[in-house]
This record gives sequence, structure tokens and C-alpha cells, in this order.
Amino acid sequence: MSTAHPLAPEPLQVLSEVFGYGAFRGPQAEIVSHVVGGGSALVLMPTGGGKSLCYQIPALCRPGTGVVISPLIALMDDQVAALRQAGVRAAALHSAQGPEQAQAAWRALRAGELDLVYLSPERLLAGDCLDRLAELPIALFAIDEAHCVSQWGHDFRPEYLQLAVLAERFRSIPRLALTATADDRTREDIRLRLRLQDDRVFLASFDRPNITYLVREKEGPGAQLQEFLAPRKGEAGIVYARSRQRVDRLAQELAAAGFDALAYHAGLDPQRRSTVLERFRRDSGVIVVATIAFGMGIDKPDVRFVAHVDLPKSLEAYYQETGRAGRDGLAAVAWMVHGPGDVPQLRRFIDDSDAEASQKAIEHGKLDALISFTEASICRRQVLLGHFGESLAEPCGNCDVCLEPDRAQDVTEAARKALSAVYRTGSRFGAAHLVDVLLGANSEKIRSLGHKELSVYGIGKDLDRGQWRSLYRQLVATGLLVSDPANQGGLRFGDRERVSPLLRGEVTLELRLPLPRREQRKGSQDGSSSPFAGAGRRVGSGSGEGADEADPQLLLALKEWRREQARSQGVPPYVVFHDRTLNELASRRPLDLASLAGVTGVGKAKLASYGEAVLALLAEGSG
Ligand code: ADP
Ligand code: ZN
Repeated sequence: MSTAHPLAPEPLQVLSEVFGYGAFRGPQAEIVSHVVGGGSALVLMPTGGGKSLCYQIPALCRPGTGVVISPLIALMDDQVAALRQAGVRAAALHSAQGPEQAQAAWRALRAGELDLVYLSPERLLAGDCLDRLAELPIALFAIDEAHCVSQWGHDFRPEYLQLAVLAERFRSIPRLALTATADDRTREDIRLRLRLQDDRVFLASFDRPNITYLVREKEGPGAQLQEFLAPRKGEAGIVYARSRQRVDRLAQELAAAGFDALAYHAGLDPQRRSTVLERFRRDSGVIVVATIAFGMGIDKPDVRFVAHVDLPKSLEAYYQETGRAGRDGLAAVAWMVHGPGDVPQLRRFIDDSDAEASQKAIEHGKLDALISFTEASICRRQVLLGHFGESLAEPCGNCDVCLEPDRAQDVTEAARKALSAVYRTGSRFGAAHLVDVLLGANSEKIRSLGHKELSVYGIGKDLDRGQWRSLYRQLVATGLLVSDPANQGGLRFGDRERVSPLLRGEVTLELRLPLPRREQRKGSQDGSSSPFAGAGRRVGSGSGEGADEADPQLLLALKEWRREQARSQGVPPYVVFHDRTLNELASRRPLDLASLAGVTGVGKAKLASYGEAVLALLAEGSG
């Protein structure tokens, strides 16, 4: 490693003194040393994986200023604020700031007083910006959200294409392109367009071990959501729903139930939208109920849950949306309910769009992958990572399938009853009526059709309505039954070669059915008494050891103090200290500055600005 600079600090030293962290994570160490040594690279790392340090530390170790190109203007100021808190000399140049700020930043840049400068691509490419940069010592270029350069990606920005010019104009300066989008096509496109074909690619695991995946069958999404949220009051989270009306209604219901919940969708005026965004970023404990319009460019680290009350449109979208939870590495939950109604609706959206037939086929395929994820009887994480070409050898122990191991059951007998009911009623009714028949209901429809006389009438009382509905849904998902759209979703037999052996009792069928109604009511799911409450704690990545014994009183006092600090400085609270740091403070209770310095997230600068105040608070709290 050739650091042109004799006094250049070592990466590990910067990691601990500036950022307060004890060790690099995943491929960070290798990336940092590659870039410090002058190499360029493409870095693929999931959200929350720690991409920023991959360029921030080399920028501090190499002579000159690190130039970070980011399309997310809204975030730049927070990133700069966070760096300044850590004692790093940083500034931003973007269109949302006044001319004085821009001038001040340029002055500092020319005087060699900046370690890092954040620029929007428009700014970088406008006027004589590149010429001016060419006259200054530049440590590196970091191109964040690099997938924006690809038309295959989900967020193409034409101005990103022009970033290819950096390779020509700044030949000897390392360029680091970073993204959380990992699909092959996008990856190759980034390398091509940013002239990184001959440079290294660093690929981190896309697993997010601190996220607990919980997938539930939809019964009453509003009530289920409240049940899920009840033990989580005061935590920040995002609830995704498909339509604006649903977003508005859910937000109202949650607010009425005492949650700090706000609606966000494209139908609101821009003023209102930015207020909501601002509250979510600055205040802790805000729940945003949103359509997918919300989320891009939010790097709030302490989002504790992402809930889907409707199916997202693909597994990629699901991964991306749930990835907004737990960026700080602390336990977080991705919770989703799905039901039979979701799928036809999503299919219709695809069919009704103006896309070409080939594109529609791709979209249907993506939806199929998502459905198999929701129907999975094997570890959710294995399915999810498998979809992205990564294999996880062991079940994860941190998803609903792993946490409820005994759920797959032999449903052969029930499936035969369900199929018989289809057949005996003439293969034309939907699940609602078929379940009525099996349960021996006394509905108008049953009376008028004479279905009480059928041999299948009332033979299904061993399961409840929710279980039967789920079984029908799964029989459709597995192709044993087909839902006929031309006949209002009436069910008929699918693949005869599979149906017949099942009816004859030659094969068995294993599926997971929802728990019976009564057991669910006991609050066995998702509540604080559930096996999931502490699920994230068992996961390595992140949860500070001893987090379990954090004194709740002390933690509250620390949060109160942080809120006040953040307010007085006009920055988001996590910029002062992350939750993880507060948790560790409340459990380890350091007594002096030396041991305070050993706490995660406490670097030299923060020790100097906050050390005494924190120690005083801790002393008070223990007294
Ligand atoms: P990304 O940009 O990849 O989404 P960030 O760079 O924002 O992720 O990092 C996510 C979180 O992890 C941040 O809170 C960051 O401070 C923290 N982090 C990153 N690297 C480390 C590390 N080596 N040790 C401890 N925390 C880290
Ligand atoms: Zn699992």
C-alpha cells in the first residue's frame, strides 16, 4: 500500500479515532486499503452495509479532498452534519443552497481546508466546476447510487452518463462507484459506463441479518397492523399500502389509536410531503404510512420496522423497501401480510399497463417469484438471498418459517375435502362459498342452491374459515386448482395428473396453515411476549453486546438529552449519537472519559464535545 503521504494516518486509526468503531465490517477493510493505495473499484453492498466509510476513510488517509457525487440533495446536508460532528471537515455544493454557502465551500476547498465535499452530478458537470477541481489536489471520487447510470436500473439519471468524463480527465485519481443494486445486468452496465471494466468489483453479502422477516396471511390488515404495532409504540417505521385511499385510512386509524402516524403519497401537495419527510427524519418515533412514492433517498438509520399491508410488485421491490429498516445494524422487523386478493389485482395492473408483451411477461415472472416467497415453507432468507444468486447454507433462525418450525403439516385429508367441495358443487364457485359448504353454514346461497344435500356439506368443521381460505389459496398457488377469471374467480381442477393421485390418496400434501383463530387471539404472535420480541438480539451484526441490560430510565434520559442537543444544533438526533451508542452507554455506564471513548460511535470529536455532559448524565442516572 503506497500512501504518498508520509504522515498519512492509518485506516484503522481513523476508524477508531474519528468514527469510534473498533473494526471494519465485511469487505470494508479490503476496499479501503485498495482505494488508499490508489485503486478504483465498484462496490456492491446492501443498504446499511457501510458504504460511506469505504470512501470517507480513504479520503482522510489520502492527501487532498474526497469528492462525493450523490443525487440525493436532501441527504447531503445531513451527511455533512454527521461528518462535522465527528470532526471531519466537510461541505456540500448543491442547487438547494444559497450563493454564500456555495462561495464559502469553494473558498474552503481552494484553501485545502476540506476533507470531503459532496456534490450533485448537475453541479459537478455545470460551468467550469471540473476545471476548477482539476487544479486542486483530489483524494478520490466517490460515485454514490451508481446504479443511476444504468437504464436497466430503477432510477436512471441521464446526467450520470456524463460521469464517464472523470475517467478521462482525472486518470490517476481513484474512482469508487457504490450501489446497493446488485443484479448482473446493472452491475455490468455500471462498469461499462463509468469506465471501470478493468477495475476490481467488491461484492458484499446482501444478507441483512438484523432484519427479522415475518410474513403473515391477511385477515384484517388494519387490525393485524395494530396488533403488530402495539408493542412498538415510539418506534420509527414505514407502512406501505398500495392505494392513496388506503394510505389515508390506515394513517387515520393509527393516529386514532395513539400512534404518531402520518400519510404520504403523490396526491398530497409538495409542501405537505416535505413536512412529513422532515418529521420522519428529525423526530424519533414517527410512522409514515405511504405508497411506494416514499422511501427513495431516506437514509434514516433507526427505522425499526417496515410493514407491507399489500404485496409489493416484485421480490426486488420487497428487498429494497424492507431494506430501509435497521440500517444501524440493530434489530428491525420486515412484516408483511398477503392475501388471495392481492395477486389478481397486481396481475391486472401488469396486464392493463402500456408495456410491451415481453416486458409484461417479465413483470409476471417477477410477481411469481414474490408469490413463491410468500408461500415458502423454507426459510424466507434462503428464498430471498437465493433469488439474488446468493446461497445461505443454513436456515436463518430469524424469520417466521424458522421461528415457527412446526407449522408445516400434513393437509392431505383437508385438501381432499377442499377438492371434493369444488367438484361436488360443479366447479364454478369461489372459495367463500366453498368454505361455507365445508363448514356447514346456513347461508341464503346454500339454501337456494340446495347445497345442504351435498355429501361434502359440513364435513370441514375441524378447520376454521381462515385455515380453509388459506388452503384454497395455496391449492391455487400450487396449481392443483385454477381460478377462472372469466367466471368471477370460480375454482376448478388444475393439473389432472396431480389432482387425481391426491384424491385417490396415493400422495400426501404438506403445507403451512394459519394457526386457528383462538390461538392467534392469545396474542401469541408479534406481541412483546412472542418469540420474535427478542429475535434480533441473537443476531451478530450490530446489536451492541449487553444491549439487553440497558437501563430503560437511563436510556430515556439519554434520548431526551440527545433530542435537546439535536434541536439546538438543527440536526437530526442520530447525527449526534446513534441509538446503538445510547444503548451501549445505558448498559455499560462508563465512568470516565477513557472508557467512554471505547463505546461504539464515540470518536475523538464527539468525546470532546459531549463527553463531560454524557458522564454527568450517567452519574446522575446511577445515583
Ligand atoms: P450504506 O450507505 O451502505 O447504506 P452506511 O454507510 O450509512 O450504509 O452505514 C450504515 C451504518 O453502519 C451507519 O450507521 C454506519 O455508521 C455504520 N457502520 C458502518 N461501518 C461500520 C463499522 N465498521 N463498524 C460499526 N458501524 C459501522
Ligand atoms: Zn429463516
